[in-house]
Amino acid sequence: MTTDTEFSLDPQDWEAFRENAHQLLDTCINQLAGAADHAWQPVPESQKAAYALTETGMGIEKLVSRLQTEVLPYGTGNTHPRFFGWVHGTGLASGLLSELVAATMNSNCGGRDHGAVYLERAVIDWSKSVFGFPADASGLLVAGTSQATVIACAAARVRALGASVRSEGQQGARLVAYAGSAIHSAAGKALELLGIGLSNLRKIPENAQGLDPDALAAAIEADRSSGATPFMVFATAGSVDLGRFDDLTALANIASANNLWLHVDGAFGAWTRLADEPWKSLSDGIELADSLACDFHKWMYVPYDCGMVLVKNAEEHRAAFAGRPSYLEGKVEGIAGGDPWFCDYGIDLSRGNRALKVWAALVAYGPEKLGRAISDNCRMAAYMGDRVIAMDKMALAAPVVSNLCVFTADETLSADRQSALNNTIAQRLQLSGQAVFSTALVAGVTCLRAAITNHRTNLAQVDMAMDAVLHEREKHG
Ligand SMILES: *Cc1c(COP(=O)(O)O)cnc(C)c1O
Repeated sequence: MTTDTEFSLDPQDWEAFRENAHQLLDTCINQLAGAADHAWQPVPESQKAAYALTETGMGIEKLVSRLQTEVLPYGTGNTHPRFFGWVHGTGLASGLLSELVAATMNSNCGGRDHGAVYLERAVIDWSKSVFGFPADASGLLVAGTSQATVIACAAARVRALGASVRSEGQQGARLVAYAGSAIHSAAGKALELLGIGLSNLRKIPENAQGLDPDALAAAIEADRSSGATPFMVFATAGSVDLGRFDDLTALANIASANNLWLHVDGAFGAWTRLADEPWKSLSDGIELADSLACDFHKWMYVPYDCGMVLVKNAEEHRAAFAGRPSYLEGKVEGIAGGDPWFCDYGIDLSRGNRALKVWAALVAYGPEKLGRAISDNCRMAAYMGDRVIAMDKMALAAPVVSNLCVFTADETLSADRQSALNNTIAQRLQLSGQAVFSTALVAGVTCLRAAITNHRTNLAQVDMAMDAVLHEREKHG
């Protein structure tokens, strides 16, 4: 133990700290305000080497300067208005403020009785009303849809086999789950982790809309007759490949007729609930789900990371996770009071304050403005689709239904040459900082893919990106 009264990890000079912090805050605000000037750029080799922690203990002033020059310039690029790759949220200015406050409070949201817990309940309650879930449904903020899916699958497994599955394991039961062929890999990963096994995820063929309900019913029947235990259906509200939405009502009918758990992966697409028509109707029937996974960090533009799981039957959710040792027992009063504790609904005991950044976005902008940004993103994807159709030799891989536009730069080439060209265009545009498209394999062709979950994109930005695609095609086609 140190007896040195001077020793502390806190700043010795708070005024100096204040000056450094204010300066850093200004740099951050400047960067956000000038987001269009900050495209992705590769991290230079010298910088990668400089990240190694060979020199440490340099003090706050040096830290601030290194944050400004060595860290801030090398983001993922998703704050830029022409970033359309994968499905990346953009981050809101409100997030800068809420993260500052969250770091100051340093709340642990596993449970107990304090402000952040009430913020999380408020965010979950608001979400339940958006998705038509009953007031007594349960929910939890998590790292993202991947973790939300694990939690939903664990609850579904408890419904199928009883809570004894937690102590006894599956005892030879062969659980089978169903999903359309466009299901995100998070579903399979969840089944792997829970010991159900990836080969017990049946990929059901899709029709023009999504998972084919007739094929689903037939597959359930066939598995039953072979002695397996069908237990859950994954529906997709917004597929990563083409932005399509399964017919949630039709799938809910089949799930309930067969006593199966219906989980909806609505990672980004669930938020069409806040959009104008025709996009809002895409997620009709979402209220019929037993569980829903979605992300705030994608199409609600909230900074990473924040996803959510909602479970309609709170008892089933709790039965899959509750169980606290005596040192964590709840008390009637004091910090150890408060009920429910979030640690009884998921994997983590210690949890950060994810709710604040969502709460802040809702307080600052509200669901109407956020919904408008979501609708606008769909309009921009449709506009991009129109430009593809209007351009010589370009072709859509599929009709634009929501915020995804997937296309090939030259449909007159062979599949292999189209794939090579589209890959080259995507890479050139990324490296030059002009625009970020990712790629998707559709019917044997690697296509350019734009998933617009970007509140900084406008029609002029879409035009610039499409002009850049055309320019690269002329160079490399
Ligand atoms: C992003 C995504 C996931 C995975 O969510 P994370 O938040 O990245 O864990 C699952 N499903 C779909 C449809 C997605 O877009």
